[in-house]
Amino acid sequence: MFDFWRRALFFPFAFLTLSLLVWATVGALSATLFFGVFLLIHLVLHLRQLEALDYWLADSDERIVPDGPGMWEEVFTRLNRMVRQHRKEHEQRVAALQHMEQATSALPEGVTILDEAYRIEWCNPLAEQHFGLDCKRDIGQQITYLARQPEFVQYLALHEFSEPLVLCGARQDGLTLSIKLIPYGNNKLLLISRDITHLERIETMRRDFVANVSHELRTPLTVVNGFVETLHDMPNLENSMTRRALHLMGEQTHRMERLVDDLLTLSKLEDTLNALQEETVDVSRLLRTLHQEGQSLSAEKHTLRLELTSSCILLGNADELRSAFGNLISNAIHYTPQGGEILVSWHEQGDRPVFSVQDSGSGIAPQHIPRLTERFYRVDRSRSRETGGTGLGLAIVKHIASRHQARLEIASVEGKGSTFSIVFPASRRLSLPAEEAITT
Ligand code: ADP
Repeated sequence: MFDFWRRALFFPFAFLTLSLLVWATVGALSATLFFGVFLLIHLVLHLRQLEALDYWLADSDERIVPDGPGMWEEVFTRLNRMVRQHRKEHEQRVAALQHMEQATSALPEGVTILDEAYRIEWCNPLAEQHFGLDCKRDIGQQITYLARQPEFVQYLALHEFSEPLVLCGARQDGLTLSIKLIPYGNNKLLLISRDITHLERIETMRRDFVANVSHELRTPLTVVNGFVETLHDMPNLENSMTRRALHLMGEQTHRMERLVDDLLTLSKLEDTLNALQEETVDVSRLLRTLHQEGQSLSAEKHTLRLELTSSCILLGNADELRSAFGNLISNAIHYTPQGGEILVSWHEQGDRPVFSVQDSGSGIAPQHIPRLTERFYRVDRSRSRETGGTGLGLAIVKHIASRHQARLEIASVEGKGSTFSIVFPASRRLSLPAEEAITT
């Protein structure tokens, strides 16, 4: 600061001293004139530097910082240093951005950045291919104007992105995309799209194969089962060994029939062409029926209670929901020892409707929980066979839940019991205000 004033006032003081000398030797008028001329020249020089600065500021990116004498030298040197630093940082930022763009362009997935209103902010070349976009032209456009598939529009509208969406025929016929939305930062969304056409084709082949085999097995099984039952019921069948063998054969063919039925149910649920047929479902009424069926399955071996703390109606498929809820209730009955308690409830978590079944049964060790919904995964094979289980029940429940954009949550403590819950998105709730608890 001191240096600045020293440089700024050096010449005015020098000329003031000279003017005083002139005053002493020649007179006051000459001294005033001399000092006035100096001030004028001084002012003109400063104005020229200001003009140079103004000229540079008008296009500071292209022009070099001007040079100047005296105090201006210091100002321009600092300015020059700042500009160099700024340019260096700018170049670093541009390089980092290019790096990012190159990296995201090399990704095997489409990446699109959307704002809170689903307007496109940026996308990589693969995303352009997947949705038929032109990144430069379509910036600021709502993605749903350009990718209009109803499933995609509904997926965005539901705001429930925990499960990816499989979109068939996204742009060209035959293209199948797996779409995931990841919220980040300040209400931004990262839309990741992956071409799974090939995987989907293999998966379809596998599904068709399982469905066809199951279908083909159905008729012979029904015939064999019919004969076994007829033979078993024949009055003149005396040999107890034969009777026992026929009884076992009957049990096994029934088991195979249940397996075939579950496999066919799974194939139907997995079929991407089999869209969810939505209707309004009165869950409370459905649960009252399932509660009665549960009581006859339990045959008074358990205390089976029903708690309806929500009266909300659900937008979903009644048959599928019946199958999912029924599966969880029958599992609770099968895996809870005699005398145990089971609570079936329909309630709300915030604005999300929740169906849950809580039992005081055998419980499940934590390492098994993540794998329970895999096909044929059983914690205890012999127990599952004893109860007539196929090992497909929870896989079916999970599929039905995801077709309703719901989440299957499992909480269990070994030896104490388990709670299986299906948490539906708020958007599936056709609201009626929560009523008083009804416990049966
Ligand atoms: P399963 O037909 O064998 O019952 P599921 O898919 O319905 O097949 O269930 C998978 C496994 O999860 C079962 O074999 C059982 O070990 C376990 N399981 C399911 N429900 C319960 C429950 N309520 N309590 C304890 N274990 C359970």
